[in-house]
Amino acid sequence: MSDCIFCKIVEGIIPSTKVYESANVLAFRDIMPAAPVHILVIPKRHIPTMNDVLPEDGGLIAELVQTAASLAKEEGIDESGYRLINNCNADGGQTAYHLHFHLLGGRKLGALVEGHSS
Ligand code: 5GP
Ligand code: ZN
Repeated sequence: MSDCIFCKIVEGIIPSTKVYESANVLAFRDIMPAAPVHILVIPKRHIPTMNDVLPEDGGLIAELVQTAASLAKEEGIDESGYRLINNCNADGGQTAYHLHFHLLGGRKLGALVEGHSS
């Protein structure tokens, strides 16, 4: 999709700090990190939101999750802990409409949802 920022990152039209790449998956550092480790793990194929994931994408989703877990280990946050987050659509806070998981860690993270203490 031509006007998608993450497709442009996949194509190399927009530069990024890549930390992992395979035939189907790309991982790169978030431009506005919310934690010491903030990596975006994305499918190379344009999938707009989590709602657009199909049953046949199971292998791809597994690769995205496994990539995040191995990057957590590489970044040294697997034992201290981390979060893997997908924001879907407006209420979820999605701003980039190309499926992605945020891998966040390297500090004690706050409440999962604003206004919630646990
Ligand atoms: P969302 O809000 O859709 O869950 O997350 C989009 C994320 O993409 C944000 O954390 C934002 O900082 C990041 N982002 C937006 N544009 C760029 C970019 O051009 N390069 C990189 N590396 N990250 C970006
Ligand atoms: Zn895209």
